Amino acid sequence: MTDQTNDEGDRDGHQRAESWGFSTRAIHAGQDPEPTSGAVTVPVFQTSTFAQEAVGKHKGYEYARTGNPTRTALQTALAALEGAAFGVAFASGLAAEDAILRLLEPGDHVVMGNDAYGGTFRLIAKVFGRVGITWSAHDLTDPSELDRNWPDNTRLVWVETPTNPLLTVVDIAAVAAVVARRREAGGPAGPRLVVDNTFATPYLQQPLASGADLVVHSTTKYLGGHSDVVGGFVATDDAEVADHLTFIQNAVGAVPAPWDCYLTLRGSKTLSVRMDRHNENAAAVVELLRAHPEVTSVLYPGLPDHPGHEAAARQMRGFGGMVSFRVGTRDRAVRVTEATELFTLAESLGAVESLIEHPGAMTHLSAAGSPLEVPDDLVRLSVGIEDASDLLADLGQALDRL
Ligand code: PLP
Repeated sequence: MTDQTNDEGDRDGHQRAESWGFSTRAIHAGQDPEPTSGAVTVPVFQTSTFAQEAVGKHKGYEYARTGNPTRTALQTALAALEGAAFGVAFASGLAAEDAILRLLEPGDHVVMGNDAYGGTFRLIAKVFGRVGITWSAHDLTDPSELDRNWPDNTRLVWVETPTNPLLTVVDIAAVAAVVARRREAGGPAGPRLVVDNTFATPYLQQPLASGADLVVHSTTKYLGGHSDVVGGFVATDDAEVADHLTFIQNAVGAVPAPWDCYLTLRGSKTLSVRMDRHNENAAAVVELLRAHPEVTSVLYPGLPDHPGHEAAARQMRGFGGMVSFRVGTRDRAVRVTEATELFTLAESLGAVESLIEHPGAMTHLSAAGSPLEVPDDLVRLSVGIEDASDLLADLGQALDRL
């Protein structure tokens, strides 16, 4: 027995959760009261091993790298949020991505968007590139370009939408259609579509329903939601992929600790209410930025003149809490990031508190000099759930000082 996500009991739970609304799933899927005590919250099973009644006779758990009940609850809950049959949790978003990329063999090719998260680029190009995996960066906002210039041996198409940090929107269903056609031509070894759903979250966007094969998350961000835990997660309906991921989870061992699973589960219970507030606050911040004379452009999928607005409106329930803007020069961008008080200057995103950063020098430094380099006058905001009036006052005074 490796992990309970795939066993019978859990399948029943999955079916039951399917009839629930999103917020009910977030609070109850995989989270029945604990049978021995009735504890209403899933306990932190802080143990490395599990007693066996006889050799090979146990309650579904043997060793905590292989499986742990707190992790099972997290996997079941997050899979239910993505509407997926299977979910596998990892120690970080990049560990989750690494597990997916281990589907590949030397000579295989990965297509990625031309403004993927810098860490994703680094992993694909600089870690997997060394063992014979090739990659190319494409403008995935135009899926017909990918179709025309389809690289040989493509096994994975890696979509992020909205992207980090340029908030580019990729039409998931349109890319899925290209990938599906290539798969029909390529047989069982044909390509699969991965969508990084970290920015949108399953509350705002459901990539599997739009034709993705795998959904990956940095749960460090909105799913955890409180800047207190690092984690990663993959959801899929593909049993073969789920077996691969579960094998890698155990064989490589980049597993989340029980306490981290607990924190992520606790955070994800409030995802829908937090996201509603993130959406509202981001819209207010965008209005302020649009009106401010020091701001040269605002990147936000909710703006009707954003090139991906239509696709975003189709595939997202709301436009999210991430906002980027440009101020003309690197020096001015750095000055804004250092002049706010409530918007804390820090990497990461997706938590209750508002953060500000300079992607070129911080989160996306690893993409410098590559086709994925970001403009150096760009500022990225993760708009939190504080009172909008306080956020507007803080940002306004920082811009006024330019
Ligand atoms: N994907 C996206 C879109 C991210 O923003 C990040 C981190 O910032 C990751 C993946 C990697 O996740 P982690 O930092 O949890 O390893």
